[in-house]
Amino acid sequence: MDKLIHGTAASDTVRVVAAVATRTVEEVVARHGLSPTATAALGRTLIGAALLGATQKDFDRLTIKLESDGPIGGIVAEARPTGALRGYVKNALADLPANGNGKFDVGGAVGSGMFFVIRESGFELGLHNTPYVGSVPIQTGEIGDDLAFYLAKSEQIPSAVLLGVLLKNTEPFVSAAGGVLVQMLPGANEHIITMIEDTIAHAPHLTSVIGDGAGPEELAELVLGEIEFKKLGEREIRFECTCSHEKALTMIEALGADDVRSMLEEDTGASMACGFCSSNYKISAAELAAILERLSS
Ligand code: ZN
Repeated sequence: MDKLIHGTAASDTVRVVAAVATRTVEEVVARHGLSPTATAALGRTLIGAALLGATQKDFDRLTIKLESDGPIGGIVAEARPTGALRGYVKNALADLPANGNGKFDVGGAVGSGMFFVIRESGFELGLHNTPYVGSVPIQTGEIGDDLAFYLAKSEQIPSAVLLGVLLKNTEPFVSAAGGVLVQMLPGANEHIITMIEDTIAHAPHLTSVIGDGAGPEELAELVLGEIEFKKLGEREIRFECTCSHEKALTMIEALGADDVRSMLEEDTGASMACGFCSSNYKISAAELAAILERLSS
């Protein structure tokens, strides 16, 4: 089970959110058949969305979206307060050779463009609140850097963001995935900030400690060093989509009578793929006929 924890340190002047998400990223690879570079890109973005979601109250859905010109063609990652995560990249097979540091060239795959954070609320209650949308230009496209830049620029919260996905050559391909978000809240002093920066600079890679069995508590300690961590809560995180056969039928119905009629007459059925999870829904001729009858009555 993947887990996310949140808490504070240094007399509540520092907020820390940490997550281990190895299973979640495994599930994403299995569903979308992602290339290694796309796995790192989407994995980091999903973990980033989960971490950011844990710092916010009163939302139904938080989305990180990258609209960019690189081979990956864009990324969407959604987090819900329940810990459910889902997402996709436009080109699942986009892949690049490792960069100069021997790491996945996520920045190269993403390219340049815009980084968005969208927060929606109220729709579970049937309200239609205007979503909150913040955006910044993509900095490096490595995701962690972009999220930190977004938080500093758009929300004025100095933050450090560490996101990691480590892969191997055999199934299930993902050997470790996780992340840590550290935010300096009002009152955080320079000395503490310097200490944390220094600890992060000298800390081992997140994925190597996760691979050794570390949980989110150890990740929080890894970035805080000597500073004591006060855990305030935890939740399970997992890949989970909201699609269903029922919703697929509603979407077919929304296409209108002409489209439904041609699906029935030309193809004697329809199939709908969910972009978020790659589930495929087969809609039978009988179901199409029933939809058509509803639309024509
Ligand atoms: Zn789905």
